[in-house]
Amino acid sequence: LAHIKQADPQLHAFLELTEDAARAAAVRVDGAIANGTFGRLGPLAGVPIAFKDNMNLKGTRTTCASHMLETYVSPYTATCVQRMLDAGCLPLGKLNMDEFAFGSTTENSAFGPTRNPWDPDRVPGGSSGGSAAAVASGMTALALGSDTGGSIRQPAGFCGVVGVKPTYGMVSRYGVVAFGSSLDQVGPFARSVKDAAFALDALCGRDPMDCTSQDVEIDFVAATERPVEGARVGIVPSFMEAEGLSSEVKARVAEAAAKLEAAGATLVEVDLPHADAAISAYYVLAPCEAFSNLARFDSVRYGCCDAGHTDLGGQYEASRAKGFGAEAKRRILLGSYLLSSGVYDEYYVRAQKVRTLITQDFRRAYRQCDVILSPVAPTVAPKFGELAEPAQMYLSDVFTIALNIAGNGGMTVPCGLGRDSGMPVGVQLMAPQFQDGNMFAVASELE
Ligand code: GLN
Repeated sequence: LAHIKQADPQLHAFLELTEDAARAAAVRVDGAIANGTFGRLGPLAGVPIAFKDNMNLKGTRTTCASHMLETYVSPYTATCVQRMLDAGCLPLGKLNMDEFAFGSTTENSAFGPTRNPWDPDRVPGGSSGGSAAAVASGMTALALGSDTGGSIRQPAGFCGVVGVKPTYGMVSRYGVVAFGSSLDQVGPFARSVKDAAFALDALCGRDPMDCTSQDVEIDFVAATERPVEGARVGIVPSFMEAEGLSSEVKARVAEAAAKLEAAGATLVEVDLPHADAAISAYYVLAPCEAFSNLARFDSVRYGCCDAGHTDLGGQYEASRAKGFGAEAKRRILLGSYLLSSGVYDEYYVRAQKVRTLITQDFRRAYRQCDVILSPVAPTVAPKFGELAEPAQMYLSDVFTIALNIAGNGGMTVPCGLGRDSGMPVGVQLMAPQFQDGNMFAVASELE
């Protein structure tokens, strides 16, 4: 807590500190140590954790970094948060993000951006930028984030920490404010592969409150100890040759592949022929789902209310105009247009077809390999303002988005510093659906 108070005024990773809850949980751990019952506590007893601010923790504010929810207090706790608390974690607080998770830099937070702990002039990535920065700066051992198109993996890469987006359905979304319900998935940030494995062992599993969640038979900690020898690691040539991939990132990713080969893995070339359509499909599907999900912030049931209107339409209009930031409005407008009857078949239905093709691509690729290795982002963390143009920001997710569209699990592992910038570079590992253990075997070799 002392470190947070000293470091966070510069970084601005936290939106709220839950000091009392953290101290109360720590006192319980201390008590258990004193009376010899520590062994009965959860496997993560005493481990500090913080949560992206789109996750409900009863009694704290869940703002989604939006003026719309600035005063909203959670009446209940999200399942993902509860599982970490049940495992014994100490809740430190809530973390900054792009508003409603729309973005790649955390610059879209209504409460000001988070800074990259490696260089305060650079962004931490996004949308889970607060989570990545908090772990990278040692303010917490673990953090949870959410990933709809790369929002765990990309900031983990920019901040030099481990970040995992599990296969869709492995972690309950109950109590997490929805962005794109068919794409969203919660996962951990940690400073090591093993720490992330411990977090996932606590986090994953079926929750009756989320009908898309399911039980998984993966022991992540055991998976980190599996040998890499004999593993087939897929390399996608079109990713490694992608336009815009910086030479310093490419060099580190190639080195990571070589390291795996030296450890006994086999590198195989695999093709994802429709991956180049992933961004276009995503920026149809994601705004459509966001538009539907954000309809609930109507200033009556939730959200900021511009009072004093005599008609309901006027109240909706004024409240939503005031509560939502520019990127949220852009996505709402885009989604409402794309779902309108005249263009629905042209865009939404076609994007769904592309989704099927991309999902089939991954399935086919995994006949030849156990895990795919790629860059996580084309460059190291950019400076503030460099991705200010929405179209530029959208393109920065070129390596992460296909995975959400297919629903598979992926993770970022730090693989050294870029030789030009001195900033961390992350490598991405992608697993077949519900075979997320595969990537942990390989990831621990790369540390
Ligand atoms: N950057 C992407 C977007 O803006 C992904 C965000 C996310 O994964 N939440 O939608």
